[in-house]
Amino acid sequence: MSTYAQLLEKAVKDFEKAHVEDESLNARELLGKALGCDCRRFDFEMRLQDSADGVVQGEFESLCQRRLSGEPLQYLVGEWEFYGLPFKVGQGVLIPRQDTETLIDTVRKKAPKDKPLTVVDLCAGSGCIGIALEKYLDCEQVTAVEVSDEAIEYMKQNIAINKSKMKIVKGDITDRQTALDLPTADVLTANPPYLTAQDMKLLQREVTFEPQGALFGGDDGLDFYRHILINFKQTLRTGGLIALEIGIGMEDEVMTMLVRHGFENVRAHKDACGAFRCITGFRK
Ligand code: GLN
Repeated sequence: MSTYAQLLEKAVKDFEKAHVEDESLNARELLGKALGCDCRRFDFEMRLQDSADGVVQGEFESLCQRRLSGEPLQYLVGEWEFYGLPFKVGQGVLIPRQDTETLIDTVRKKAPKDKPLTVVDLCAGSGCIGIALEKYLDCEQVTAVEVSDEAIEYMKQNIAINKSKMKIVKGDITDRQTALDLPTADVLTANPPYLTAQDMKLLQREVTFEPQGALFGGDDGLDFYRHILINFKQTLRTGGLIALEIGIGMEDEVMTMLVRHGFENVRAHKDACGAFRCITGFRK
């Protein structure tokens, strides 16, 4: 009979052989999931020398198999951290990315500070942007707009586990009627789908498990920025802040769009890797 430490060692080797990045993290997270115990906690370490229970071993091996066939670690674990907060994730919703923390940092720096804020987040997915802003800014009201029922189910759970008061509006941002259901905002945010047709052909294996609708932004990746500016400019009050996540190399085009729509003080902000990741501007 094996100990959990031995099972862990074997899984690390299997991941290494299959070129799964961060093999040790993957193996520990999945063993933690099978054991029902957070792998960052001391009791996880304490259990490693125990003889493995057959059911836990079966569960762990099946999770490792799924990981080896490309399923993202975050879906298998079922919960992931974004901006220090927990978010439920799984098939049907985009996994919160560390890149998107740039958007939160930028909005925290740039948002008007004179009164509690009304925030609207478009293409909200798991709800990670709206919930993080609600926690870290003085907000009166946060509204999340999302079209996918599957994503909305995760968002509801994320509102509950984070004790958030964020409201959900189910709506398609390509339809201008959606704006009718929204309050006038001091801050408008979005991490829209922005991958190009070319990007979609070159997706990392893990990303192919994520919803296409949350990734594909039309041939040039920019379709949703066009819809946002046409349909939701009026959602933002005069002097309000717009903050949009962008893909690599999109800064010139998205900044130009904002300037053409009459936004002032249009700026691009870099992520931790030094790539422009977020564009901001203020409505005139
Ligand atoms: N940043 C995501 C990726 O690289 C794309 C998310 C999006 O299109 N907003 O997979």
